[in-house]
Amino acid sequence: MKQNVIHTKFGEGIISGYVSIFLALVGFFAVFCFKFPEILTSPELRQIYTGEFMASLLTATIIASFFFALLSIILNPKKQLALTGLLISTATIIIGGFEVQGRAVNKTSWHLGLDWLLLDLLLMAFIFVPIEMVWPKKKGQSRFHEEWRTDLVYFVISHLFIQFFAVITQNPATFFFGWIGLSSIHTFVQNLSFLVELFIAFFVTDLFQYWVHRFFHSHNYFWRFHSIHHSTKNMDWLAGSRMHFIDIFITRAFAFIPLYVLGFSSITFNTYIIFMAIHAVLIHANTRINFGFLKYLIVTPQYHHWHHSVNPEYYGKNFATIFPFIDKLFGTYYLPGNSWPEGTGLDDAKYPKGYYKQLIYPFTKSPFGDVINTEETTKR
Ligand SMILES: [Zn+2]
Ligand SMILES: [Zn+2]
Repeated sequence: MKQNVIHTKFGEGIISGYVSIFLALVGFFAVFCFKFPEILTSPELRQIYTGEFMASLLTATIIASFFFALLSIILNPKKQLALTGLLISTATIIIGGFEVQGRAVNKTSWHLGLDWLLLDLLLMAFIFVPIEMVWPKKKGQSRFHEEWRTDLVYFVISHLFIQFFAVITQNPATFFFGWIGLSSIHTFVQNLSFLVELFIAFFVTDLFQYWVHRFFHSHNYFWRFHSIHHSTKNMDWLAGSRMHFIDIFITRAFAFIPLYVLGFSSITFNTYIIFMAIHAVLIHANTRINFGFLKYLIVTPQYHHWHHSVNPEYYGKNFATIFPFIDKLFGTYYLPGNSWPEGTGLDDAKYPKGYYKQLIYPFTKSPFGDVINTEETTKR
């Protein structure tokens, strides 16, 4: 299939143009977080950051957007990208970008996570865009491949609706286990040393995740939903976001059960959340960085790319997302030296394009046609 892609090289003023637009857009939307914090920001994050810090970050983002726009003007004879960045940042200043102030916020019954979306997008782009440029796995792969918009929509929705996803993730555990007296278990766990507690948190959630993941692969109806995650041909830092709502709901709800039952201390819980947010992005990233001997201890991009292999023989390998030894334990470990899969994605599946069509499609139809032979399915 012919791909409509844009290839970028250093020094042409194209990258700086896009960086300018990206920062300008983040800044523009951030202003609305200050204007309507009740409905656009999340109480959990407001406890972590201060209004003054966010206002300074916004100022820095706007200034950086102007800087990259100027760089692009100098380097690139075509000025459209730079002018777009300049225009958006000027609009941000007009609507009050330099005058925002944090203020006391009343808690409301519902909110969107626009602050979480913008902060995570900024942080992930800041970490992973340079890594993918300097140490790419697939050199020719453009950032603007044909599926990047769909992946971005997945990213945006899972962040904006953070409150909804948190509720549906936590409800099953509280419903099924809330009535049991768990306080003595919680006290015991919270008295363990931090590293032991952290290891247990990583291990039990990954163990639950492992079996749910394997279940999604070995049952035709559920594979319809999880295979959407496997459908992207272009692995990069946004690709891991592509997960069907049913996949997110079931996987996270199960992984949350041990966290809820064991009741880890908040420092352990928060470390786990932060680690997962970065690590889940890293293992899908288009990078050859492989962390030396650590690849035997912790899941790396190479390890998870094999799970995304286009060759069906390897779909059924490497289900773990943190500890490879869990795959070793259950006979699904595959890490052949330094080699990587030929390609990623699914050749035998047909999906509609775009988030909403992909949301509905697996409920009604199989992307693999009406028949999947069971022998093939067991390999998944
Ligand atoms: Zn999978
Ligand atoms: Zn994946």
